[in-house]
Amino acid sequence: MSKPLPSPRFANRRRWHSERRTRGESGLQAVPEPSLPPAADRYRGLFENSPISLWEEDFSECKTYLDELTRSGIDDLRGYLRENPDEVQRCASLVVVVDVNAATLELLECDSKERLLGRLPIIFRKASYDIFLEELLALAEGKTVFEKDVVNHTFRGKKIEVRVRLTLAPGHEQSWSKVFVSLTDITELKRTQAELSKLAQLDTLTGLPNRYTFDDRLEREAIRAARRDQSVAVLMLDIDHFKDVNDLFGHPVGDAFLVKVAERLSHGLRSLDTVARLGGDEFAVLQTEAGQPESTASLAQRLISILEQPFEVEGYTITSSASVGVAIGKAGEIDPRQLIRQADMALYRAKQRGRGTFRFYGEEMDQEIRERLTLSRDLRLAIDNDELFVEFQPQIELVSGRVAGVEALLRWRHPEYGLVSPGRFIPIAENNGFIVPLGDWVLRAACEGFQRLRKAAGGGELKLAVNLSAVQVRVPQFAGTVLGILESTGVPPQALELEMTESLLMQPTAQLKANLEQLHSNGIRFAIDDFGTGYSSMNYLRHSWVHRLKIDRSFLQQVEEDPSDAAIVTAVIALGNKLGLKVLAEGVEREGQLEFLHRHGCDEAQGYYLGRPTSVAELSRRLAGR
Ligand code: C2E
Ligand code: CA
Ligand code: CA
Repeated sequence: MSKPLPSPRFANRRRWHSERRTRGESGLQAVPEPSLPPAADRYRGLFENSPISLWEEDFSECKTYLDELTRSGIDDLRGYLRENPDEVQRCASLVVVVDVNAATLELLECDSKERLLGRLPIIFRKASYDIFLEELLALAEGKTVFEKDVVNHTFRGKKIEVRVRLTLAPGHEQSWSKVFVSLTDITELKRTQAELSKLAQLDTLTGLPNRYTFDDRLEREAIRAARRDQSVAVLMLDIDHFKDVNDLFGHPVGDAFLVKVAERLSHGLRSLDTVARLGGDEFAVLQTEAGQPESTASLAQRLISILEQPFEVEGYTITSSASVGVAIGKAGEIDPRQLIRQADMALYRAKQRGRGTFRFYGEEMDQEIRERLTLSRDLRLAIDNDELFVEFQPQIELVSGRVAGVEALLRWRHPEYGLVSPGRFIPIAENNGFIVPLGDWVLRAACEGFQRLRKAAGGGELKLAVNLSAVQVRVPQFAGTVLGILESTGVPPQALELEMTESLLMQPTAQLKANLEQLHSNGIRFAIDDFGTGYSSMNYLRHSWVHRLKIDRSFLQQVEEDPSDAAIVTAVIALGNKLGLKVLAEGVEREGQLEFLHRHGCDEAQGYYLGRPTSVAELSRRLAGR
């Protein structure tokens, strides 16, 4: 902040007052009702009869004040006024409207001249302090003319846009005591301009939106996305070696080629998305509701593939490729300008990497996406390539210590990455839709393995737990598929327990309920997996098909030391007992945890301490020896 100012004192020099009055220490005094000076000026008549809206202002007090400020040591007047809006307000209050003509009254829908005389009229103060400041600075910097378009309201509240033009009357440059202001109503003009600029929103060569429109949409989408908690992606696309096309075939062919590129790009997009030509061979795509980064990655890949197909342009066959740079703005933190910059940088990197490829902004993001895409692609081949298998983890009945069941856990041995955790690839499968065939495969493999385990156990009761994904259960044929697999593998429905997470049950669709009920009526049971980590609504526990709660292993980790964990575990056990549900605790890694569960009457437990997930062969040996 600037140093405090001495309060400037100055003479009140209203020329139409005979008496000269000085300002008291109390600050500004009430302004006397202004009366018009005698129309002595030569151009008075011209002024009054002008069809243009004109008024005359006196800035001289304002100038005195500014001079005082300067004298008191302010050298950067511009900076000072910007930082001190109070001073600007004060300056505005010192400007006096001396006269207005009839055209002004009409333009401003003002019924009496008196309302405009005296101080700067309030309607032009409220909205336009910034503009007043600009006027002031223009005058202070020695300009004699200042022009600015201003949106304002008339006295009757009509919105008008006016071009305000300020001119220091000749001979008054030093004192600022006569300033003419002309107002031109440009409301219509602006409306026409807006319409013209709408026409100019499209790129003339390709008919795609231009850069201006793209920026505008991105801006609006950023706001919309924040409201809906969605992401937005910007993809910058650049034709590789476009210069060669121009050089080899000439510019007209180059232009025709760009038109075809534009056509292909716009056909390759959803109607929600925008493709624009930013200039030259550079295009930009705005992907709304971007969702998972994979969907953006596959869009980038699709755009690249689309442009790899040869083009037939005016008798020539042109083969080309494109590079794409991608930036994703997460919901709530979308900065349009930054997004464009990031996509640009990513495009630059994509070009460096070699052409015909895309890149995400940020090293980590790019790495992550690349790996997920590889996994997503490879997972579809994993079944045929024999890379998947199922392991079984024993579930132990605590009172007897016997193996009461087994949980089937899916494994993937990737040729390059080795063993990939299901925690990593299941979400990818859920995202790319492959989870449905994958789920069917797991169930069949689990049932086949289970039959061998049952044989090894030599009869006796043994149950098979299989994990389900929400996506699977929403498929209409799901119940039918499960029953079919049970029948063909010979596993009795009563032996099967399907594990689902709480989140799956939060918004049950009609289809989901129908599937669960059909399976339940056939004797299949259900367990709530990772119980306690999801939503706290327990509504779904009322359904008859819920058979078991599986306490999430995070609650077991410190159950012996942490009183709240202990309280949660015992409460879930009690809840299960009350509701007639079985309770199984997951993640038992130590004797102490087992002790605890035993003491509190938990039915079953599962964990590394009791047996790691393992092959059918190994688990068979254990079951045979029990
Ligand atoms: P989950 O259903 O909660 O499975 C238990 C996970 O805990 C398994 O990890 C298991 O290996 C691990 N585990 C078992 N005992 C212990 C222990 O004492 N300590 C610790 N730290 N971990 C233990 P896994 O096999 O990596 O599976 C991870 C998740 O992947 C599973 O969590 C399940 O949600 C999902 N999943 C696995 N197989 C399938 C499947 O076939 N279908 C579906 N939809 N999801 C599956
Ligand atoms: Ca499970
Ligand atoms: Ca679990």
